[in-house]
Order: sequence, then structure tokens, then C-alpha cells
Amino acid sequence: MKTYFLRSFGCQMNEHDAERIRAVLESEGLARRETPEDADVIVYNTCTVRRSADQRLAGHLSGAARLKRQKPGRTIVVTGCLPQAEQAAFLAEYPFVDVAVGPQNLHRLAEALRAARGTTDSGQVALFDDGDAMSGDLPSRRERPFQAWVQIMSGCTNFCSYCIVPFVRGRERSRGADAIVAEVAALANRGVREVTLLGQNVNAYGADLAERPTFASLLRRLDVLPGLARVRFMTSHPRDLSDELIAAVAELPTVCEHVHLPLQSGSDRVLAAMNRGYTADWYLARVRALRSAVPNVSITTDLIAGFPGETEDDLADTLDLVQRAEFDAAFTFVFSARPGTAAASLPGQLPFEVQRERVQRLIALTQDQARERRTRLVGGMAEVLVEGPSRQPGRWRGRSRQNVVVNVAGTAQPGEIINALITDATSTTLKGLA
Ligand code: SAM
Ligand code: SF4
Repeated sequence: MKTYFLRSFGCQMNEHDAERIRAVLESEGLARRETPEDADVIVYNTCTVRRSADQRLAGHLSGAARLKRQKPGRTIVVTGCLPQAEQAAFLAEYPFVDVAVGPQNLHRLAEALRAARGTTDSGQVALFDDGDAMSGDLPSRRERPFQAWVQIMSGCTNFCSYCIVPFVRGRERSRGADAIVAEVAALANRGVREVTLLGQNVNAYGADLAERPTFASLLRRLDVLPGLARVRFMTSHPRDLSDELIAAVAELPTVCEHVHLPLQSGSDRVLAAMNRGYTADWYLARVRALRSAVPNVSITTDLIAGFPGETEDDLADTLDLVQRAEFDAAFTFVFSARPGTAAASLPGQLPFEVQRERVQRLIALTQDQARERRTRLVGGMAEVLVEGPSRQPGRWRGRSRQNVVVNVAGTAQPGEIINALITDATSTTLKGLA
């Protein structure tokens, strides 16, 4: 039997794509292996959102090339956003790659693999056209029995000026609500307790469908499905965070009290240059509306430091907004110029040293803030979905409804939802007692 090794990089959408790639590979009769050395087919599912992701992949690919030289029958497959972004240049840079398939063409991966078997050593099979097939409808080989990702949209047409995603994942498309409800119902029936709905901007869900269902209406349909305990979603665009959605988070028992709401910058000038479509005041007003409707909500964010033309005053505005918004956690990034995006050719590109120093200030503030917010939870109770053994000996690792990792002492089993007393906090995790 032929074997495969798969490694996926990047966001949750990519992780979910990897589940679909596994389904394709296994339906082609390939058996999974844990190391590339043991595999006939080596697959990397790539990310290109920042340059660091490209550099990491280059290292893995040179390892794969070495393995192919040792055993020439091996097939090297690269899927995802990097080959889609670079296309011919990617194929030329990595001549040993046999198959390259972009994220909108995963439904044709089996076809590409079969075609590669028929080619000579130098032949490369590439699929990069903007197929209209909805990847959300592809079957998945899901890893976890009680949690599942469900794609509700693909692509993005927001064109934030720094972002490569609209170029590599195509235009925004929503999956039909009936198909999503049917998929989640089937998952719940199989024992899945928690689903995470995925899309680049879930708040815009349905705007492209004939019946124009809203995201909140979709949440209401999912909330009543028997057996389902938790619904999460990501990512929310602040511009489209409606009162209707806030009400759904407040009212629906299954919808978890966590909203990931990427801010990017607290400077109106930078937000405009990023093409984000909101101001700092708008953002803060949305945060306040959310907190007043859902007092125990956790709000997490993404921040970019060192955007072209960003001044010390702009950074001060960001630090100020972060102070006032009181985030529960933040992902902080150094701006990375992605070829082809509008921001890559803006004047005022900043030296890396300046960007790095600024990101460190954002990290310091957001970590202090997160620690302080966690500390407030000590002494209270949290509902925890137990995911598996913790790295801390004798404890279980799970997540609260607010998406905080809780390491729990006591009797429990994976998949179980327990109430834990919170006994201790760090900036990223909590300790609890079952
Ligand atoms: N659609 C989501 C949204 O609007 O927030 C997120 C998609 S993106 C993969 C995740 C995060 O990566 C963004 O929120 C942004 O902070 C960051 N990011 C995207 N492009 C970037 C770039 N060129 N340089 C640095 N960070 C970037
Ligand atoms: Fe990128 Fe903006 Fe679309 Fe998010 S909303 S994927 S940051 S373009």
C-alpha cells in the first residue's frame, strides 16, 4: 500500500483544508504516515500570509527534495496559498515539486495526483484556475471526534491593502444555509459537541446568496440542533458586526461568548490606508455594545505593527485603543509586504528593526492585559470542554466557552463538558479543579 505524509501550516481554514486533503488521499488508497521519510507521497499545505511562512516552507521543501533524490518514485505535492500566489515562479523555483494545487482546486486534487503518475520526472501538474466549486462541500477526514470545523464561506473580497488572501482564495462565496445545517446536524448526531464555523468574514455570511440569510439567522438554526453544545465562529470583521449578531451571541445558549475581532490598528489614518472600513471610535463602540449585551464575553484581536507610513503617533493611538478595549488575547504581527498587494507598494515602508521594536511594545501591553483579565476569573466557575491530557502532569486540558485553555485537575474524560473551579491564571491559560 502506498503511503502519505501531510503537514499543514497557517490558519484554521488551512487546517480544515488539510482534513479534506486527507479525505482525498485516503480515498485514493494512501495510508497515513507520521514522518516524510516513511511516505511515498509528501504533502505540504501552505500559507503565504507573511513572508516568514514562505521561508519556513522553503526549509521543509529542501528536506523533501533530498528524500526524493534518495527514492525517486516519491511524489511531492504542495497545496494551499503559496503556490497559488506565485504560480509559474513557484514551479520554477521548486522543479522537484510534482503537483501544485491552489486552495480553490482541492476538489481536483485526486485528478492531479493521477495525472502526476503519468508524467515523466520533469513533468509538473498544476491547478490554479479560479474554480467555482465550493470547497466547503468537500468531504473531510476529521481528526477529533467531538469537535469539528465547518466552512460556511470561502474567499474574501474585502481587499484589506496588506492582505494576500483575496488574491489566493478568490471572491467571497457563502455556502447554502441548508447544506451547513445538514452538515452540523450530521456531526452532532455522530457525537460532535462543538463546531467552529469558518470564514474570512463570517459577519458578511449570506450577502451573496439569493435568499440573503444573515449570519445570526444561521446561528439560530444551528442553536436548536439536538446534541450540539457549542458553536464558535471566526473571523468577524468589525465593520460588519451587527446588533443582530450581538443579540444572537447574547441569547443563544450554544453560541460561545467569544468574538475574535481583528483591530489591526488604532489609528484612523492607518485604518483608512489598510482599507478596513471602520474608525477607532466605531471599533470601540462595537466592543462596548458587545460587552454590555454579553458581560462575560471574551474579545480577542489581531494587530499589525509597522504598516507603511505608520508613525509613533499612530502606534500611540493603537496602544491607547488596546488599553480601552481590554482584549482577552491578541495575535500581534509585524507588517509583511506581500507581492501584488496595495500596501506592498505604499511609500514609507519601515525598517524591520523599527517594526520589531513596535510589535514588542504591543506584545508587552496585550500580555499584561490578558494576564490581568485571566486573573479576574480566579475563584469563579468555568464550563470546560475536555479535549485530552494536559502537558501538566495529572491534569486534563480543555477550553472554556471564552476559548481560554484550562488545565483541570480531577476526574474527567475527553469530550466531556464539566464545570471547573478556576484556581490560578497565567496570561494565556487557567488552572481549574473539576
Ligand atoms: N479574515 C481575517 C480578518 O479579517 O481578520 C483574517 C485573515 S488573516 C489570515 C489573519 C491575520 O493576519 C490578519 O488579521 C492580520 O492581522 C494578519 N495579516 C494579514 N496579512 C498580513 C501582512 N501582510 N502582514 C502582517 N500581518 C498580516
Ligand atoms: Fe485579508 Fe481583510 Fe479579507 Fe481578512 S478581511 S482575509 S484581512 S482581506
